[in-house]
Amino acid sequence: MKSDARVVVIGGGVVGASVLYHLTKAGWKDALLIERGELTCGSTWHAAGGMHTLNGDPNVARLQQYTINLYKELEKISGQSCGLHMPGGIMLAGTRERFDWLKMAKARGRYLGMELELISADEAARVFPIIDKKHFVGALLDPIEGHVDPYGVTHAYAKAAQIGGAQVVRHTRVTDLKARGDGSWDVITEAGNVHAEHVVNAGGLWAREVGRMVGLELPILAMQHQYLITEDLPALKGQKELLTCIDFEGEIYTRQERGGVLLGTYERAGVPWSPLQTPWDFTQSLLPEDLDRIAPSLEVGFRHFPALAEAGIRKVVNGPFTFAPDGNPLVGPVRGLRNFWVACGVMAGFSQGGGVGLTLSQWMVEGDPGADVWGMDVARYGDWATLPYTNAKVRENYSRRFRIRFPNEELSAARPLRTTPVYERLQAEHAVFGDYCGLEHALWFAPSAAEATEDITFHRSNAHPHVAAECQAVREAVGLLEISNYGKFEVTGPGTKEWLSYVMANRVPKVGRIALTPMLNERGKLIGDFTLCRLAAERVFLICTYAAQEHYRRWFERHAPPPGVTVRPCAMEYVGLSLAGPRSRSLLQGLTREDLSSAAFPFLSFRRLDVGMIPALVGRISFTGDLGYEIWVTSEYQRALYDLLVGAGAEQGLKLLGGRALNTLRIEKSFGTWAREYRPIYGPYEAGLGRFVDLEKGDFVGRAAALEERDSGGALRLVSFTVDASDADASGDEPVWHDGKVVGWVTSGAYGHSVRQSLALGYIPAALAGEASGFEIEIIGERRKALRQSAAVFDPDGSRMRA
Ligand SMILES: Cc1cc2nc3c(=O)[nH]c(=O)nc-3n(C[C@H](O)[C@H](O)[C@H](O)COP(=O)(O)OP(=O)(O)OC[C@H]3O[C@@H](n4cnc5c(N)ncnc54)[C@H](O)[C@@H]3O)c2cc1C
Repeated sequence: MKSDARVVVIGGGVVGASVLYHLTKAGWKDALLIERGELTCGSTWHAAGGMHTLNGDPNVARLQQYTINLYKELEKISGQSCGLHMPGGIMLAGTRERFDWLKMAKARGRYLGMELELISADEAARVFPIIDKKHFVGALLDPIEGHVDPYGVTHAYAKAAQIGGAQVVRHTRVTDLKARGDGSWDVITEAGNVHAEHVVNAGGLWAREVGRMVGLELPILAMQHQYLITEDLPALKGQKELLTCIDFEGEIYTRQERGGVLLGTYERAGVPWSPLQTPWDFTQSLLPEDLDRIAPSLEVGFRHFPALAEAGIRKVVNGPFTFAPDGNPLVGPVRGLRNFWVACGVMAGFSQGGGVGLTLSQWMVEGDPGADVWGMDVARYGDWATLPYTNAKVRENYSRRFRIRFPNEELSAARPLRTTPVYERLQAEHAVFGDYCGLEHALWFAPSAAEATEDITFHRSNAHPHVAAECQAVREAVGLLEISNYGKFEVTGPGTKEWLSYVMANRVPKVGRIALTPMLNERGKLIGDFTLCRLAAERVFLICTYAAQEHYRRWFERHAPPPGVTVRPCAMEYVGLSLAGPRSRSLLQGLTREDLSSAAFPFLSFRRLDVGMIPALVGRISFTGDLGYEIWVTSEYQRALYDLLVGAGAEQGLKLLGGRALNTLRIEKSFGTWAREYRPIYGPYEAGLGRFVDLEKGDFVGRAAALEERDSGGALRLVSFTVDASDADASGDEPVWHDGKVVGWVTSGAYGHSVRQSLALGYIPAALAGEASGFEIEIIGERRKALRQSAAVFDPDGSRMRA
C-alpha cells in the first residue's frame, strides 16, 4: 500500500467503488480505496440489485436516472459485466388514492424526461401475468427499471477506477484518522499509515464507526431487511423476463430471479440492527431469517400473486443496510472537519450509487456538486438528529417505504422533541402542529380540541376553512404567528460589514435598517436567502431558513470571516412572534413608547425596543406581504410577550395563524422561499431576485456569474399563476404545460383565500415569460388551465406592507 495519496476512500461497497471511479474520471487519479474485507462484504453483496428511477425529490430522481444509464458505459470501460437486466417495471395501485399518486408520479416524470405510462388493472394483468387483478385499480409502467448484479457492479466500478489510475487495497481496516494542522489526514490502518489530502467515509454499515474516529455522530441506522426467492414457476418457463414490480398495498417488491421470483418487503414492524455499534467481525455475513416477521406481508403477497403461494421457497435472505432519518443519502463535506467527506446512508445503492459518486467527485474536484443535491446533503441534519432520534425516524421511514406521503401529512415519530416556550399556549388554542427539524410549530388552529386533526389528502382538507379565517384576519385585522423556526446568526466585530458584503449579493443595510439578500455560490446560483438586520455598525442579525443553518455554517467556514469577526448561530436563543395585518401597528403601538408611525419606523426598520417590559429586537417586515412586525426575544421572555400581545390584541380582532396560512399569504404575494423557489439550480435573475443583487458595490461571491446572468437574462423565469383548479391545489413538482408541451414545473401552490383563487409559483423558460395564456398545470392527472400573472395577485404594488 502506498503511503501518500491525494484521497483515501474508506469502504469498498458499491458506494465507495463508485466514488473512486468518479474521482479518477474527474482527474484525481492518485486515489486509494481501502477495504477491510473483500469488495462488497458489507451490505452490498446480498442486495437484491433492483433499481428504480422514481424518487420523491426530483433532483434525487435525476441522479437515479444517471446511475441506471451509467452501467453500460461502466461495462465497456471495465470489461466487467454488471449483470444488467432491464425488463422494465410496473407499479401496482390497489386503491384510488394510490392510483392518484401514480398519476402525480407520472406527471412529475414528464419534466424529468421519463416515459411513464398509466394502465388499467386489465392491462396490468396482461403485461404482468402473475397477479390477481381483482386487487388492483391500475398501474404505472416504467421502461427504465430492472436489476443488476451487486458483485458485478462494484467490481466494474473498481476496475474502471483502477484503469483510471486508482489503487484498491483489500483486507486492510482503517482503525483511526488523525487530522494534521494543514487540513490533511493520517489514515491509520492495520497495514501502516497513509497520508492523504482528503478522506471519504464510504463505510456503509460502519459509516457511523468511521465517523466516530473524527468525533462525528452520523444520523444513520441499519435495518434488517428480508427477501425470499421462490422455486421455479412453471408459468415463467420460456417467457420473456418478468417486469420488476412494486405492489404498494402489499408493501412488496418483486423481480424474476432465474426461473423463480424474488420477493422482498418493508414490513411495518421493522427491526434495527446493531443500533449503537456495528461489529467489526460482521463480514460477508447474513442475519438469521425470520419469516414470521414478514408473514403479514407475505399473506397479502400470496393473495395478490397467487402463483407465488404455490411455489416453494428456495432461499431467504436477511441482511442489514443503512438509512438516514428521511431515507435519502448523506453526502458532502462535513462542517468543522477540513477535507473530510461522507458518502453514506445510501439505502438504494444500485439506483443511487452512481449519482452519489458523481456528485461527491464534482464537489471535491470542482468545489461544487454541480447539481441541486440539497435532498442528500449531509448538512440537512443538525445536532438535534441524535442516535435515538435517528432510530425512531428510520424505523418510521422504513415502515412507510411503500406508503403514500400526502402533501399535507405530518409524520409522528420522535415527536414532540423540541418545543418553544409558547408551545402549551398554542396547544391550548387547538393548534395542529407540524415538525420542522424536530421543532414543533403550529400549522393551523382548529376551533376545538376534537377538530384538531387534519385529514390527509391530495385535496383540500378540513383545515381549509380555518386557514381561510386566519388569512382573513391578517388581511382585515391582525394575525399573530410564531416564527421561532427561522435560522438566525449574529455577526459582530470590526470588518462585519465588509465580510457580509463579500458573502452576500446585496448591499449591507445602514444601521437600523433591513435588507433582503440572496447568497450565491461561485457559479452565481442561489444557495441561500437572508434577511440582514443591522443593529449597530458592527453588529448584524441574520435571519434565514432554519433547515439550511448547517449548510450556511459550512459555507461560512469556507468563506471564513477575517480575524475579529464572529459569526454566531443563535437560532434557538432568539424565539419570535410576528404581528401582521392592518391593525398590527396600533396593537404594537399600545405596548411601546417608541414612535411606530411610518415616518419614524418605516418599512424595513430594525431596532431594539421595549415591548411592555420585554426587551425585544423588532423588525418592520412580514412575509405575509401586509403591514407587520417580527419581534425577537430571548426565550425566557416569549411567554410574557405572547400573553401581552394576545391580551392587547383581543379588541383589535387578533387571531392566531399558522404555517399553512403563511404559505398561502406569501404565495398571494409571489414571495419565494428556500428549498422551493430558491435552490442551487436557479440564478437570482431567474428567481426574480435581481433587485436584491448589487453589482455596483464591489466584489462578492458569484458576482461575475450574476453579471453574466443579468446580461443574458438566464434560461428560466419564476412566475406566478392563477389556476383553474376545483378541490385540489398544486403543492409543488407538478408539470407546467404550454401549447401541449411540458415546459416547466411548479415549486409551490395553495389556495389564495384573499383573492379566492387557486395559485401556483413555478419555473418556465424565460422565452415564455411574456406569455399570459396557453398554460396548464397538471394536478392529480388533470391539466388545469393556468394564467400567468404579470405581478403578485394580492397588492401588486406592495403599498400595504409599506403603509
Ligand atoms: C437484503 C437487502 C436487499 C437490498 N436490495 C437492494 C436493491 O434491490 N436495490 C438497491 O439499490 N439496494 C438494495 N439494498 C441496499 C444496498 O445493499 C445498499 O444501498 C448498498 O449496499 C450500500 O452500499 P455501501 O457501499 O454504502 O455500503 P457497504 O456495502 O456496507 O460498504 C461499506 C464497505 O466499507 C467497508 N468498511 C467500513 N469501515 C471500514 C474501515 N474502517 N476500513 C476499511 N473498510 C471499511 C466495509 O467492509 C464495506 O465493504 C439491499 C440491502 C439488503 C440488506
